[in-house]
Amino acid sequence: MILRLRTSGHKYPLSLSTSEVYQMGVTLPMYLDHAATTPCDPRVVEAMMPYFTETFGNPGSRNHSFGWAAEKGVKIARQQIADLIGADSKEIIFTSGSTESNNLAIKGAANMYAKKPAGESGRGHIISAIHEHKAVLDPCKRMEKDGFDVTYLEPGPDGLITRSMIEGALRDDTILVTIMWANNELGTINEIPEIGDLCHEKKIVLHTDATQWVGNMPTNVKIDNIDLLSLSGHKMYGPKGVGALYVRRRKPRIRLTALQEGGGQERGFRSGTLNVTGIVGLGKACELCAQTMDDERERLLSLRNELETKIESALDVVQVNGARDRRLAHITNISFGFVEGESLMMAIKEIAVSSGSACTSASLEPSYVLKALGIGDDLAHSSLRISMGRWTTKEQIDYAGDKIIEAVQKLRVLSPLYDMHNEGIDITKIEWAAH
Ligand code: PLP
Repeated sequence: MILRLRTSGHKYPLSLSTSEVYQMGVTLPMYLDHAATTPCDPRVVEAMMPYFTETFGNPGSRNHSFGWAAEKGVKIARQQIADLIGADSKEIIFTSGSTESNNLAIKGAANMYAKKPAGESGRGHIISAIHEHKAVLDPCKRMEKDGFDVTYLEPGPDGLITRSMIEGALRDDTILVTIMWANNELGTINEIPEIGDLCHEKKIVLHTDATQWVGNMPTNVKIDNIDLLSLSGHKMYGPKGVGALYVRRRKPRIRLTALQEGGGQERGFRSGTLNVTGIVGLGKACELCAQTMDDERERLLSLRNELETKIESALDVVQVNGARDRRLAHITNISFGFVEGESLMMAIKEIAVSSGSACTSASLEPSYVLKALGIGDDLAHSSLRISMGRWTTKEQIDYAGDKIIEAVQKLRVLSPLYDMHNEGIDITKIEWAAH
């Protein structure tokens, strides 16, 4: 069946295969996991199509019209991306996504501004945070092995990293600060412009992983004092496998050591034939975000408020995680006391959300991000990250809210601990008998 899905002020047909259609246009399974990835906007797909077949040239082919046509597509996309973040088009380096952008930024800047040569220790100090994405933490760990010191800041219960926290961690040999703009599990927003101001004052490079931020919030890298910024196509209704790194060219000019050698594309920062179709799609996605994000933010904020209010008025022992007043509008992360995480996910399996448990090879580990906020293992396991998007409707949110409430209520009927809690017993004070 073909459903007409609504974007803000824009009707666009998108065909979806549906297993079941509920009343009021609610279709199952329902996708509420836009922080993991977004569907590609059909207008993005339309823009990309000619670049597979007709305009297939290599933008590096400077001596014929096929190459020029592809290069023109890349040039337009570069400008669309630059416009979305207030950059100059020359400051955009195309990559395969935010993982690569983060690696290039962190390793590239650390090696470029190192105080001592490779192979020695004490090469310089880097500041990051314990609840960054693995695509930042793992490059930082690599840098530790390569002779750098890294301070991993710990957030308070609000999940935020502030200017004063960075200030407190600075050392004479600090060369790089890498802090995400918005957290992918919580949606919490760090003080990036303020941190950037501090970094510029101290002549330290600031990189921000803005994967969850860009496309949802207004961005101006110049005003916001950012030197390096990572973004990714598939988090903003563009294709997967394409992203960009913004590299400041003036005041100050940022230099990076490249991760890979080859044809010298992207001013030598990132060799390899450009992913022209992906880049054109990323450009179009940026253009659409610029046009719609203000209205979308308002719309999604009101849907989220509705969802949180509904859940909090129907259930006790629930908590919304992270600073409530500093969050992206489309993300909420909620812990439900006295339910078992896996059972909750099973009970709402037709609604695609993320859980507070991460699958490691042998077991389900509670999310390290929630643990960083001081949330206990049980509550972390029974947390849901619900993230809405361009085609999320009020009807879907009404339905999802009802289903979650119903599932939690049913699971709590089976919970002796919840009974004890209702009888006023403080569960944390119980001394359990050992067998
Ligand atoms: N950084 C953050 C904050 C993310 O949320 C993600 C994706 O989940 C990444 C980095 C990795 O991005 P990509 O999938 O483009 O490599």
